[in-house]
Amino acid sequence: KKILIVGGVAGGATAATRLRRLNEQDEIILFEKGEYISFANCGLPYHVGNVIKERDDLLLQTVEGMQSQYGLDIRISSEVISIDPEKKAITVLNHQTQETYQESYDKLILSPGAKAIKPPITGLNEAKNVFTLRNIPDMDQIKAYIKQHHVQVATVIGGGFIGLEMVENLHELGLDVQLVEMSPQVMPTLDQEMAQQLHAQLNLHGVSLYLNDGVTSFQDAGNEIILASRTTLQSDLTILSIGVLPETTLAQTCDLELGVKGAIKVNENFETSQQDIYAIGDAIEVKDAIDQSPTHIPLAWPANRQGRLVADVINGLAIEYRGTQGTSAAKVFELTAASTGNSERILKNKKIAYQAIHIHPNSHAGYYPGASPMHMKLLVATDGTILGAQAVGTDGVDKRIDVIATAMRFGAKADELASIEVAYASPYSSAKDPVNMFGYIAD
Ligand code: FAD
Repeated sequence: KKILIVGGVAGGATAATRLRRLNEQDEIILFEKGEYISFANCGLPYHVGNVIKERDDLLLQTVEGMQSQYGLDIRISSEVISIDPEKKAITVLNHQTQETYQESYDKLILSPGAKAIKPPITGLNEAKNVFTLRNIPDMDQIKAYIKQHHVQVATVIGGGFIGLEMVENLHELGLDVQLVEMSPQVMPTLDQEMAQQLHAQLNLHGVSLYLNDGVTSFQDAGNEIILASRTTLQSDLTILSIGVLPETTLAQTCDLELGVKGAIKVNENFETSQQDIYAIGDAIEVKDAIDQSPTHIPLAWPANRQGRLVADVINGLAIEYRGTQGTSAAKVFELTAASTGNSERILKNKKIAYQAIHIHPNSHAGYYPGASPMHMKLLVATDGTILGAQAVGTDGVDKRIDVIATAMRFGAKADELASIEVAYASPYSSAKDPVNMFGYIAD
């Protein structure tokens, strides 16, 4: 078989290596429009903040390494610009030579990712100091700008997880940081009362927080930001992180069926509406694991998982992808915020009946030094099904959310959380772990 893959990072690179492991004969060609493959997107903010010191640490695989290790044909600076499903061929633009050529396929996998939303805000095009962060060149540009200009005040627009990570990392560089968020809270995966902890943490670190406020225009080449409230912010550097949309420019060239937010529709085997064309990762619509409703959840775990599964499908193996739960974590200075499943806000929108349980346990036994409070929330359906969980605290937060995420994946009811036997010693937990406490309360 001749298998072509579009996109060489999370989903695409995973699919390529799994395809090779399953079949030594297949011809596998991977096209990446940028210069880098298999890099660590999730580490980009931390190199801006010099927490990850070496840029090379972000490059998980080199083209040469991956080609020789896996016998792949990897073509960087190669943008796939159209697909002809009738001829089963793609057209590729080589950005180095500006030449275009065609390549035929038996199977085609799309993993083109997502793109940062850039709304048509007045003055955005003239602003020289406004950046988005999606890949290595974006990161290099931000770092170079900070180095070459006298940046003192940085503004982050959008308080999702990339925005919050950038706030922390710009603060790490000693800059004054201000955060503008249109909704009443940061971190949209959390409910309002949980997000308050993050607001307090941002205040504690001197971050100026502008909630319920959006940008209406950039003035003076981006040095001034005008907000809806008529507040004017001075800004030497601005990061626009108001969300992403599926990258479906290519999908539109062959009329692939699109769904939520324009994401590519796929079936349970990641097949698109055109034969022998598969799609995975941030570009696709997925089923919400809670109620199987169509949604778009751009995260690294799903992209990696789907990359492996699509390779299995192409090699005739049966797969089961149980929908995306949206399990995620973010570090916000000393705090960790993590969640899985649906929030109360989403459940209300979907009109799913639920009960919310709040607990505020210690991260480990109170008598062992360093115990700190966690704020935890469990959302439970009337039949005991766990619909979602959220936690914010300094220690042990990700562990608890991961245990609950695991329980949810295997269909445990809320009261069954009481029977999970977790590892316990006083520096780590309590003999009745917070996860167990949820079970006792739900019982
Ligand atoms: P990507 O990994 O984005 O890869 C898509 C690739 O396709 C790109 O390199 C692009 O250049 C290429 N491409 C697109 N169109 C074409 C074309 N026509 N021809 C050729 N190549 C093309 N997720 C988490 O779960 N946790 C985190 O902490 C986290 N942190 C993040 C931090 C940042 C700054 C960013 C940007 C993302 C972060 N993510 C995180 C999200 C995670 O990186 C993505 O969910 C994941 O990379 C999606 O994988 P993908 O294969 O769909 O797309």
